[in-house]
Amino acid sequence: MTAPLAVTLDDIERAALRLRGHIRHTPMLADPLLAGCLLKLEYRQITGAFKLRGATNAVLSLSPDQLARGVVTASTGNHGRALAHAARAAGGRAVVCLSHLVPDNKVQAIRDLGAEVRIIGQSQDEAMAEVTRAVAQEGLTEVPPFDHPDVVAGQGTLGLEILADCPAPGVVLIPLSGGGLAAGVAAAIRALSPATRIIGVSMERGAAMAASLAAGHAVEVQELPTLADSLGGGIGLANRVTFAMCRALLDDVVLVNEDEIAAAMRHIHSVTGDAVEGAAAVGVAALLAGRVACAPATVCILSGANIAPETFAQIMKGQSA
Ligand SMILES: *Cc1c(COP(=O)(O)O)cnc(C)c1O
Repeated sequence: MTAPLAVTLDDIERAALRLRGHIRHTPMLADPLLAGCLLKLEYRQITGAFKLRGATNAVLSLSPDQLARGVVTASTGNHGRALAHAARAAGGRAVVCLSHLVPDNKVQAIRDLGAEVRIIGQSQDEAMAEVTRAVAQEGLTEVPPFDHPDVVAGQGTLGLEILADCPAPGVVLIPLSGGGLAAGVAAAIRALSPATRIIGVSMERGAAMAASLAAGHAVEVQELPTLADSLGGGIGLANRVTFAMCRALLDDVVLVNEDEIAAAMRHIHSVTGDAVEGAAAVGVAALLAGRVACAPATVCILSGANIAPETFAQIMKGQSA
């Protein structure tokens, strides 16, 4: 027996009903160059990343009054973009607080979606302080990027989709930062396909969840520049939901380096023709580098495609950073 987790299969199935008509069922593609590997092309989701699932589930769970006052978040980009889209689709207001580390293309994309953007400080923690202030002084509702049951349940719908297309995966590789995606997907897959090995993958440069799992509690790590910029930031020292779920549900966490991420981005481009961001490539990076063996039906979640064209062009030329 294990202690009950914050998000169950029931919550995820309810989220899937709520999200119907609001998100895309993204394609799964067999990788012709990596035997047994299936690529889940979630970067083709509306807004370019899976984050729309959790943000939309959270927004659709608000009262009309909360929605009218507005939602607020700090985000490395994709969650802010998703929340802006979800709020606008639901007829509400979104405020997004970002640090100076977030690439310009992501900031502009959030503004284009009609959200109010506030750029604060050099780290996720400083952007978070502005969120706390806006909640206390302006009456906004925080929708955090990962550590919230509604967000985790929304991300978990990606796990249900994987099982709809591949009912018993041997391995599932999940990009891992704050752990909302990993917690949700793992909760769905552990419940419906108990024998599947579930592995979180992060970059070596600043992997907060990996360090926290190793320590047995949430710890801070230094935020460093990385190709996988969407995997940057801490898990929150007061983490309530995702740390316990990742500890209970992940079989392993694997780290990849910058050269491995770049090689995986080139590989994914050669197979799909698409430019994905570094965070999306970490699962393929782990396979190509031999850090995880490619068992039959190994599903890699390609989580997002919000990358500056100049950055992608440099990587295609063979430069890793
Ligand atoms: C947010 C994000 C992740 C990591 O998700 P967590 O829920 O924070 O672990 C991975 N890939 C992309 C593209 C993201 O935007």
